[in-house]
Amino acid sequence: MRAALTALTDELKRLRASGVKTVSISEETLAHLRKVVGSRAGQRVNASGARNEFSAGTSTSDAAGKNDAPSRAPGVSTFSRPESVTAPRAAQTATAKMETVTPAPKLPPPPVVSLPSGDKQTRWDALFAQVIADPVCLQHLRPGKKVVLGVGDLDAKIFFCGEAPGAEEEIQGEPFVGPAGQLLTKMIQAMGLKRSDVYIGNIMNWRPDLPLGSAQAQMGNRPPTEEEMQYCLPFLRAQLEIVNPDVIVALGSTAAQGLFGYGSFKTLGEIRGRWKPFAEKPVMVTYHPSYILRNPSNRSKRAIWEDLLKVMERQALPISEKQRAYFSDK
Ligand code: URA
Repeated sequence: MRAALTALTDELKRLRASGVKTVSISEETLAHLRKVVGSRAGQRVNASGARNEFSAGTSTSDAAGKNDAPSRAPGVSTFSRPESVTAPRAAQTATAKMETVTPAPKLPPPPVVSLPSGDKQTRWDALFAQVIADPVCLQHLRPGKKVVLGVGDLDAKIFFCGEAPGAEEEIQGEPFVGPAGQLLTKMIQAMGLKRSDVYIGNIMNWRPDLPLGSAQAQMGNRPPTEEEMQYCLPFLRAQLEIVNPDVIVALGSTAAQGLFGYGSFKTLGEIRGRWKPFAEKPVMVTYHPSYILRNPSNRSKRAIWEDLLKVMERQALPISEKQRAYFSDK
């Protein structure tokens, strides 16, 4: 239970650090939270919340703190309608039962994608139709959420590849539109480009779910499994075939694992900042923007920026002295 609360509070800290002020949660999740929090002695939880929304409030707790398991979610001053309740024994039993989660079912073999002939838009439209109707993708969606395919210029020279949709992405059906996406957009702009000049995709087309019945089922994120990434890879390959970029930028170690395979490297440091081929395209592996959100130091920004400078050099994009010096330690 402590682990579940820690994961939840870490996610809230991450969201707050990246500027998110409010988080909406479903009635079902709220009910789980009531049970979880209520089962810990002396906690205050609300009995009902008309809008199921709580605020990041004014807490000053350190967003970088990792393994602390505070007795209440940091930044959550109160739920929207505070009311003291003590969890009845029955609720505690229910909480214990929720911990028993069924292992994820085995996925069928990866789909076969055959693109029609025609122009890029026709081919992309056909791919989109296949992805949004794919039974395995649909089966993994939370109610009301969307399958996510890449977005951008189908003639882009640079193809950014992330890991998997997050909370915002599965709502909008577009990759990198949440806090990490806003940072990615800034990174692209720092390169002298617009978001619409590049193509942005993910290894995964659905947001990896957390075990149903766990308190984080609606809110938390987890990295996709190797099997999940294998399943979605044909969709990524098809996007690469359509866009036919000059280079791929893999964002983070999970994206790199998706492309190069589990076990193909031990640490991101081994492959970061170097060119490595995938599908006959040169790939530059760099940090995921979320890493910068968690570690917003000049040093980490400089590291990612150095990788992007290599991409700009390869693409013969103009680089000013000012750009070269971004995030250099004075
Ligand atoms: N992180 C990713 O890797 N992809 C997204 O689309 C959003 C966040």
